[in-house]
Amino acid sequence: MKTSNTRPHGIMFHHFYDEKHIKGQGAISQDDLAQIIEHYQQNHHLLHAREWLEKAVQGSLSTNDVCLTFDDALLCQYEIALPVLESFDLSAFWFVYSSVITGGTENLEIYRKFRTVCFDNIDDFYESFFQTVASSKYQKTVEESLKDFSADEYLSQFPFYTNEDKRFRFVRDIALGVKAYNEIQNVMIREWKIDIPSFSSDLWMNKQQVFELHSKNHIVGLHSHTHPTALASLAAKGQRNEYETNYDTLNQLLNSASVTMSHPCNSYNNDTIEILNDLEIKIGFRSNMKEHPLTNLEFPREDHANIMERIAA
Ligand SMILES: [Zn+2]
Repeated sequence: MKTSNTRPHGIMFHHFYDEKHIKGQGAISQDDLAQIIEHYQQNHHLLHAREWLEKAVQGSLSTNDVCLTFDDALLCQYEIALPVLESFDLSAFWFVYSSVITGGTENLEIYRKFRTVCFDNIDDFYESFFQTVASSKYQKTVEESLKDFSADEYLSQFPFYTNEDKRFRFVRDIALGVKAYNEIQNVMIREWKIDIPSFSSDLWMNKQQVFELHSKNHIVGLHSHTHPTALASLAAKGQRNEYETNYDTLNQLLNSASVTMSHPCNSYNNDTIEILNDLEIKIGFRSNMKEHPLTNLEFPREDHANIMERIAA
């Protein structure tokens, strides 16, 4: 994947695992993170978040200037990745969706932990999921839309997904949609008699931890309030509400106005860009390295899963 060498970009991290945080799909360890950093340092400049931001705003980033970014305010990032960054004397961008640091929960993250903890492997989960779909009122709809599904074409920009990963995501995002998918998941979770508050207590950072990142010279930025998976499908008013609530919550916590952001699930449109401009956001990040007109609200990012594959190759 040569593109990563030709443009300034961010590296995008999500989940980490250790003895406490379970190893879900795509999760990496402290050693993996150190390896990625060392790998990048051979051919790129890994900049401090503040330096990257300044250069990006001035338009003076070099092609091999890279920054580290962490999405979703995950506790595993704070507990596992932060010590590694400190050992390398690096700082990063942390894109925080604010509902979860103010006592809320978010379904996708809970569902992710559920399928990791309660099933031996991801295929067992998929099997149980498709069984639940088959015995639900959505059985016909899903069967119909799967006729349009092609594992070769769907999500082809994410080479690390297996065909079953893609089939699951297709049914989740295209055939069912948010509401019906949540219904199916909730049926499964009820069968396991899971207590959501205690089950989700190790998923997200709290306010103090986010504040600590800010006070240690990392940059905390926007990522919407509730993390809709298809933000761009919301009307402008709904999008504005997402970002203004996110902005206000972080502003109140950090006593500092956010000027950076990343697009949750890479979902945005012209309305989003207008809202971010109104909030005077200076730089934003996408979730992939796809060739794309480079505006300051659309910097590319490389997924850590792709980097791991390159290192292993
Ligand atoms: Zn996210």
